[in-house]
Amino acid sequence: VGGVAAGTSAAAKAKRLDPALDITLFEQGEFISYGACSMPYYIGDVIPDHERLIAYTPAKFREERGCEVRTLHRLEAIQPHRKLIVVRDLAKNTTAEFRYDKLVLATGARARVPDAAWLKAENVFSIKNLRDSIRLKTYLRERRPHRAVILGGGYIGMEMAEALVHHRLSVTVVHKDSLPMTGLEEEARRIVLDELTAAGVRFEADTAVLDVIQREGVATGVQTSKGAIDTDLVLLALGFQPNTEIAREAGVRCGRSGGILVDTKTRTSVEHIYAAGACTEVRNVVSNKPIYLPLGHIANKMGWVAGENIAGNAAEFPGVVRTTAVKVFRLEVASVGLGSREAADCGFRVFTECVNAPSRARQYPGSKLVFVKLIVDQRTGRLLGANLVGEEGAASRANVLSVLVQRGMTVAEMARLDLLYTPPFAPAWDPLLVAANQALKHL
Ligand SMILES: Cc1cc2nc3c(=O)[nH]c(=O)nc-3n(C[C@H](O)[C@H](O)[C@H](O)COP(=O)(O)OP(=O)(O)OC[C@H]3O[C@@H](n4cnc5c(N)ncnc54)[C@H](O)[C@@H]3O)c2cc1C
Repeated sequence: VGGVAAGTSAAAKAKRLDPALDITLFEQGEFISYGACSMPYYIGDVIPDHERLIAYTPAKFREERGCEVRTLHRLEAIQPHRKLIVVRDLAKNTTAEFRYDKLVLATGARARVPDAAWLKAENVFSIKNLRDSIRLKTYLRERRPHRAVILGGGYIGMEMAEALVHHRLSVTVVHKDSLPMTGLEEEARRIVLDELTAAGVRFEADTAVLDVIQREGVATGVQTSKGAIDTDLVLLALGFQPNTEIAREAGVRCGRSGGILVDTKTRTSVEHIYAAGACTEVRNVVSNKPIYLPLGHIANKMGWVAGENIAGNAAEFPGVVRTTAVKVFRLEVASVGLGSREAADCGFRVFTECVNAPSRARQYPGSKLVFVKLIVDQRTGRLLGANLVGEEGAASRANVLSVLVQRGMTVAEMARLDLLYTPPFAPAWDPLLVAANQALKHL
């Protein structure tokens, strides 16, 4: 159930492993198998039309993957003792029961909306799914608004600020904290704020959103703890919450975030029911704690594991390092593993090291500084996490650090990595080696 990243991965994988399986994919929306992560780039005209986001239409998925697909079908209840689900056909408004041997819940997440009444205005948007994105892009094209207020300064707020600036809107981001991107380290967040300001985006710090002011079905402003902001468009980017109410009603155990708890084989607490993707909590392999991290790469991998297991294998999803990156105008902003405060809360004695080092050999033109902050365990020298920011080479280097963090490696091992040196791509002392050598001085 759920037809985006985790659901289609599970269905396709299981069918490939065991073509005799009879698999039905239920999706309440009209689209399946699309790149939700590319929606800000579709809205910002980098990707011209929404069809390019779609990997499989229902017909293509049926034909090429051999799975039955029922769009506009919503799961309404699960009866585990009878091994059946109750599904509503939204087109006909009828319900029917379907039996299962194995059920995979891939119901994902929805946008956090403090007050459902806000969404009644024609110019208030969230962009959780493709339909939302098409609606927003159509509005931008047809109505040509001049001002936008984005509620939330997380990664989607950042991506959407760029998309809306592209459409020549004057953009204000309202955020609850003093700096954008709350999960990152302060130094990285300051660089992000400078980039936002340089791009002409207003950032309203330490500001709570109280209400969306509406007149005759149109939002005219946002009421905040610091006063009202007039606007022509409001975008909600306040995070996600897992779609797990139906699972919970059926007795499936959920964690503190509301995400479904699964074991390494993606099994839930209820026999024959599996769950994967943005409706679940995952284990952070550094802190060894469950976290809620609704990201596409995780959903794809978990879906695969669920698919393997319903087909009779014993595949495992080990957990996540938490490797993320976001483009903020010219910047690549990446983070890996634990933040410094989070690491301290987990009982590590933490020290940090920050460097700014060039992305290419100094004599080669076009070099940009890469900011690297390492978060290290003082007792063992183990790398626990990192933030990287720069106009080039930050995201790719974050992937290197993700491997180190996942493998539990130390900054001493990091300092001896055999990283490449080629003037257009990296200096002889790569920014990662510079950072590791600086960090070693603390040990
Ligand atoms: C704007 C945006 C940008 C993003 N950028 C990135 C990025 O750069 N990198 C990254 O890793 N991640 C990114 N993500 C997150 C990523 O898209 C999600 O984590 C991923 O889509 C999760 O996949 P999923 O299949 O688990 O859940 P979802 O994509 O949420 O899909 C779940 C599906 O289940 C359906 N469903 C829910 N309940 C029912 C029901 N009762 N019956 C039937 N169907 C149901 C929903 O309609 C939905 O289609 C982004 C997300 C957004 C919105």
